[in-house]
Amino acid sequence: MKKTDYQMIIVGGGPAGLTAGLYAARGRLETVLIEKGATGGQVLVTDWVDNYPGFYDGIAGFELMEKMTAHVNRFDLEKKFATVASMNLQGEQKVITLESGEEVTGQTVIICTGAKPRKLGIPGEEELLGQGVSYCATCDGPFYRDQEIAVVGGGNTAIQEALHLTKFASKVTVIHRRDTLRATAILQEKAFAEEKIEFIWDAQVSEIIGNDEGVASLKIQHNDGTTSDLGVTGFFVLIGVAPNNEMLPLKQLETDAGGFIITDHEMCTKLPGVYAAGDIRSKNSRQIINAAGDGATAELSAEHYLSNMASPANP
Ligand code: NAP
Repeated sequence: MKKTDYQMIIVGGGPAGLTAGLYAARGRLETVLIEKGATGGQVLVTDWVDNYPGFYDGIAGFELMEKMTAHVNRFDLEKKFATVASMNLQGEQKVITLESGEEVTGQTVIICTGAKPRKLGIPGEEELLGQGVSYCATCDGPFYRDQEIAVVGGGNTAIQEALHLTKFASKVTVIHRRDTLRATAILQEKAFAEEKIEFIWDAQVSEIIGNDEGVASLKIQHNDGTTSDLGVTGFFVLIGVAPNNEMLPLKQLETDAGGFIITDHEMCTKLPGVYAAGDIRSKNSRQIINAAGDGATAELSAEHYLSNMASPANP
């Protein structure tokens, strides 16, 4: 009979979930990691990772996640590839219900469901998705060889991916709503030195205009009240992340205004036996390295909880 009752359930297989899984498997806990797609999370579509310690020359995001997955596989972590529909995390036995209707139960749950790209919410964005509008430069960049394209955003993702897009496009215009970038200094230096990148500062895209072939131009609203048009065939929206929290029991958990789970520094949520790690957690920096660190901390907290359950302190 298939096992459905575990000591630990990890939901999500990005850097946080895989690291939690690695620690749990090495700790010989009865653990399952539930993942709806391929393990690796958002890093799978990150072109290049240059700041993960130990990888001196940098490493492709896809390759880094292949290595993390292979590492976990060495310790035979059980994985279930399925989509979680809902969770009940109250009480001693936590219940995870899959879209198939199957229930997986466990004593502890580590939520590592990550985040997804934020949308601008402007006219043309939905209609032209996949026809010039994209949230993933690594996935769609090669479609824009020798074309003029634009990126919106001023953070690490926007600038890193704008640099990546110069491998294909003839010109990349970065449109940013302020006059300074949020991206780390080294990325800024590279972007300012890159001839194919131009900036439009203090401006927002208000509409994406399409034609029969897809995106044709952008309407730009400048902060000084003027407007302009920019002719591009590709438009990459890289303005940060929103939580993957649709399957979470948000009334049981405590979240911030953005819907990210609030934890303490040991990754404990307000529910006993329930932890959150990685990008789903309310925090300021969302890096691969701290997602992995969160995963390790969460697993160790869960182990501690399980050992207390097994041998409760004297009253
Ligand atoms: P982010 O750091 O939150 O930056 C979002 C950018 O989009 C900001 O420049 C913001 O402008 C802009 N923005 C937000 N909403 C907007 C809107 N409605 N219209 C126009 N512009 C808007 O997000 P991110 O760059 O995706 O990064 C997410 C996390 O991943 C960060 O913690 C980041 O450090 C990390 N990350 C790290 C690396 C790396 O280390 N190599 C690579 C990628 C991502 P304002 O600046 O005006 O707020």
